[in-house]
Amino acid sequence: MRKIIHVDMDAFFASVEELDNPEVRGKAVIVGGGIEGRGVVSSASYEARKYGVKSAMPISRARKLCPHGIFLEVRMERYIEISIQLMRLLKDFTPLVEPVSVDEAFLDVTDIARDFAEAVEIGKQVKKKIKAETGLTASVGVATNKFLAKLASGLKKPDGFVVITDEEKENILKDLPVSEILGVGKVTEKALHAMGISTIGQLWPIPQEELVERFGKLGRVLYYLSRGIDNSPVVTVWEPKSVARSCTFERDIKDLRVIRRQLYDLTEDVVKQLKEMNLRAKTITIKVRYSNFRTITRSITIDTPTDLLSAVWHYADMLLREKVELKDRAIRLIGVSLSSLVQAPSVEQLHLFEEEMRSEEIATIPKGME
Ligand SMILES: [Mg+2]
Repeated sequence: MRKIIHVDMDAFFASVEELDNPEVRGKAVIVGGGIEGRGVVSSASYEARKYGVKSAMPISRARKLCPHGIFLEVRMERYIEISIQLMRLLKDFTPLVEPVSVDEAFLDVTDIARDFAEAVEIGKQVKKKIKAETGLTASVGVATNKFLAKLASGLKKPDGFVVITDEEKENILKDLPVSEILGVGKVTEKALHAMGISTIGQLWPIPQEELVERFGKLGRVLYYLSRGIDNSPVVTVWEPKSVARSCTFERDIKDLRVIRRQLYDLTEDVVKQLKEMNLRAKTITIKVRYSNFRTITRSITIDTPTDLLSAVWHYADMLLREKVELKDRAIRLIGVSLSSLVQAPSVEQLHLFEEEMRSEEIATIPKGME
């Protein structure tokens, strides 16, 4: 069973404008492209929405609905700057982040949360951290799949936090309009209304074959999503910029020997993978997550790229013992990653330079530490 978190910033562009210009805070802020001419609304603050202003609406219409509104031109570079900050902080929780747009992302915390309750806890931390680091609010949904998590984040906007468990899902879906199902646009909605179906629950009695007959591929989607079933994975764009392994302990650990043992095993794994990819690394990073979910990373960059287990372990262990506060603190996760990767020399080069390079690497390890 998956554990998915969906994050959606509230009135993102308008909120960034309010963040940057305190004098417009709490006012009817409307952000658009071409606000003096025939542009459209990109984002409206919740205050502006009270007057019926919505995104994708012509600016001229928004001006009629909300003449006292504060109309601001889109500043995309600034929004992207905050978006990068947002995605980065989400990746501190898990590398399994799928950005959906500048202000929206899915996180798959299936492997880092021990159970669903912990996924909910991580969701709360995510929300808190976004507020603390960006000054902006996000609505967050936690559920067992992407469809339900996205649905959840939208249920109590702005500043919402909604959890949908598998037990509750049918109850929540039952009375929602069919338009809440991903992929149901105006045309499908009309066709469903013609069949006497306006709520998701009204789809349940209809056999899958009938839905497929009427709607093609979308029929299958309607059948499963209406029941809260969605097996689509969180898709991340992987760049082979680093090789990493981490592990969440069954229970929080204080014993340094156990932690070191685990770090050693993980180090062995990453070095093995590094060698398989014919790469060498210059940067060694360890990650520690404390029992309160606070996560820290410590890294070191060496002059000569290495794929030697002894060298990598030396630095990983040193970082753990010298750069991480361990005294009386329980740890829930430990990880190691290797980055600043370079191609290992070819076989020919290896014959010529191997001995020289390896002796250099070993020389960078301080005496008495091996
Ligand atoms: Mg948003």
